Amino acid sequence: MNKNSTPPSECSEKGSACSNCSSATCSEKAVTGAQNKVKHSIVVMSGKGGVGKSTVAVNLAMALTAEGYKTGLLDIDIHGPSIPTMLNLQNTRALSEGKLISPIEIGDLKIMSIAFLLDNARDAVIWRGPMKAGVIGQFLTDVNWGELDYLVIDSPPGTGDEPLSVCQQIKGPFSALIVTTPQEVAAADVRKSIDFCNRLNVNIVGIVENMSGFVCPGCNCETHIFSSGGGEKTANEFGVSFLGKIPIDPAIGVASDKGSAFVISQSKTPVAKAFLQIVSQITEACADKCNACCATAE
Ligand code: ADP
Repeated sequence: MNKNSTPPSECSEKGSACSNCSSATCSEKAVTGAQNKVKHSIVVMSGKGGVGKSTVAVNLAMALTAEGYKTGLLDIDIHGPSIPTMLNLQNTRALSEGKLISPIEIGDLKIMSIAFLLDNARDAVIWRGPMKAGVIGQFLTDVNWGELDYLVIDSPPGTGDEPLSVCQQIKGPFSALIVTTPQEVAAADVRKSIDFCNRLNVNIVGIVENMSGFVCPGCNCETHIFSSGGGEKTANEFGVSFLGKIPIDPAIGVASDKGSAFVISQSKTPVAKAFLQIVSQITEACADKCNACCATAE
């Protein structure tokens, strides 16, 4: 079934899902390949580049793994994959096992990116839409994900080939997570992401406002460098859940550059705690959807 055309009848509306679902009725629908069974995919989207989408994707995947969920992280940014750098995997190459590609593993987290398939990490990928759609389809079906509770998918910004291809090709339940910064210019592009999801009938799990204020480590005073509240305002305007704000913290940039996830390496900091609250809202929202769909199925 093509997710963007007809949602599963027993799941509430719009590509909703069952991350924690033990019901065979729901999980049997969540098949992405002959040997893969993904209960719920989360496509991390943004209207603009540089708003922290990949940072959110990496840390969401790491936090879900740390909480015991079987998790995969798929980077579908074909032209500018940043997940390998953020996890210090720039020089790692994927191996094939028969017809399948083995994902790279960090602990229990399984990861795939186009960068793992290139001869040289610095090679540019100069591909048109159909080639990108083909490789995204292969990432979903030919990577040996096995059984996953969540597949977090980091999509390039905007509403172009990659998010369209992935939303058309995921076969199990999935939702979009939209990341923005507080400024009006970013909020304007978020409206396009929301419109994209509505037109493709994709459930939006919520909006996260990143780079929302800067707390001075010296005096603890908060400065709204990029103003604040744009993400929440847009969420309210469109009736989408607002999941929370992540402040600017230089430690996040340092952790990304070093190839570590701040939610793990800085787990005691207020910013990591704020992020974990966002993660728990995402898992709760998915569980609520699951309960709704199981009740409908009974
Ligand atoms: P995108 O995927 O939207 O292009 P990235 O996740 O690559 O954005 O983030 C862009 C840069 O901003 C990275 O260097 C990242 O480490 C940094 N960054 C993201 N979020 C924050 C934050 N809350 N505080 C400080 N730096 C951040």
